[in-house]
Amino acid sequence: MIKSKLKMDKIRTRFAPSPTGFLHIGSLRTALYAYALAKHNGGDFLLRIEDTDQKREVPGALEALQTTLKKFGLTWDEFYTQSERLPLYSSAAKKLVKDGHAFYCDCKPKNAKLEGFSQELRDPCRNKSLKSGAIKLKVPDDKVVSYCDFVHKKEISWNTDTVYDATLLKSDGFPTYHLAAMVDDLSMKISHILRGHDWLPSTPIHLLVFDYLGGKRPEIGHLTDILSAETGKKLSKRRDSVFVEQFLDMGYLPEAILNFVMLLGWAPKDNRELFSLGEFVKNFDINGFQDANPRFFYNKLNWFNGHYIRQKTDKELIELLKNGFLPENTDMELLSKIVPLVKERIAKLSDFSSFAGFFFEKKEVDKTLLGKNYKEHLSKAVEALERGILLDKIPEENGFKVGDFFMDLRIAIAGSKFTPPINESIEILGKEESIERLKKVISNN
Ligand code: GLU
Repeated sequence: MIKSKLKMDKIRTRFAPSPTGFLHIGSLRTALYAYALAKHNGGDFLLRIEDTDQKREVPGALEALQTTLKKFGLTWDEFYTQSERLPLYSSAAKKLVKDGHAFYCDCKPKNAKLEGFSQELRDPCRNKSLKSGAIKLKVPDDKVVSYCDFVHKKEISWNTDTVYDATLLKSDGFPTYHLAAMVDDLSMKISHILRGHDWLPSTPIHLLVFDYLGGKRPEIGHLTDILSAETGKKLSKRRDSVFVEQFLDMGYLPEAILNFVMLLGWAPKDNRELFSLGEFVKNFDINGFQDANPRFFYNKLNWFNGHYIRQKTDKELIELLKNGFLPENTDMELLSKIVPLVKERIAKLSDFSSFAGFFFEKKEVDKTLLGKNYKEHLSKAVEALERGILLDKIPEENGFKVGDFFMDLRIAIAGSKFTPPINESIEILGKEESIERLKKVISNN
């Protein structure tokens, strides 16, 4: 049924963020799915800024949001700003009053937190025939409203006796989401609304508004919540990194983040995992949405990121590292020698410093990491380096355990158990500097 509909109408989707700060990883996913749904079907993807709650607005957030979306390749065909469309909303609200589907209310606005199901369902002003004030929805009694959710693929219905008389237009003339988004979805001929799960409880209000405003109701899909792998709860700003900008700052690449979120709530038929944006659009299938809340596994994100890091040429990787991921005073010539060694081993750009920082500065060596024979190991290594003997020969010649010998060497040279291949590292670091570091550890106790 969904398929034949897709063929009939022009698919138009929208991403409708409020410019209140950084981009939530769940919002990036919403935008991506809306983009893919439109583009897979040759349709349009719109960016609509829902900035009618001026108290929550953050200066600069709009520009930052646009820059971030572009980094991910999510470009829009049309752009709208709700604050520039205020007359549309107020005339829609007035029309609803005229048609008997809404009423004026002059009560003091309640605390926003109370604007929910906990408040009285029926507003006493609905019977007062006031001529000014805020405008609220006149919810009918005992009527069933329902829709089929295209993400969850099921019919969901409510009895209007459980739906409250929601505010549509505030007394200051600004619309609420309940009005503005519905007016826009109709006037922008949106075919599919994809939005966060938080909006599900408000959907009966929206269905009524759509029906009263007239026109064709868009299909609606509510995306699942992304859960923390550790707590099994919704990702929380306090506990978890949730903003796309935070992931970029940690050195995750846009293509990896995007590939990771693609599969947080959608799956292809064939278990394929790697998709560029273009490939995702091509393979996108509206029936691939999953019903269960996905979990955010960092090791999966790291796997994707490692994959995309390794797709880069050394030159590209150096350019990426230059965006704040290099130790201070990095020697660029040295860097070009190190990058090939490191590329295979780092999961994110920020790993570079901890993994290869020892090339640029001497690290404190934690002696407790060293094995009990470390002095012997390191002395023989110094000797080998001085005499130009291959380090690989040393363990056998001296009856050392290979693993123990090289581990002590890593720790003494790099201050860490995790390093690029140690032979190559010593070569890059230079014989003299390496010997100096080894001697320092031997003598320093
Ligand atoms: N501004 C709403 C939000 O950020 C948009 C929801 C929607 O896509 O309709 O949650």
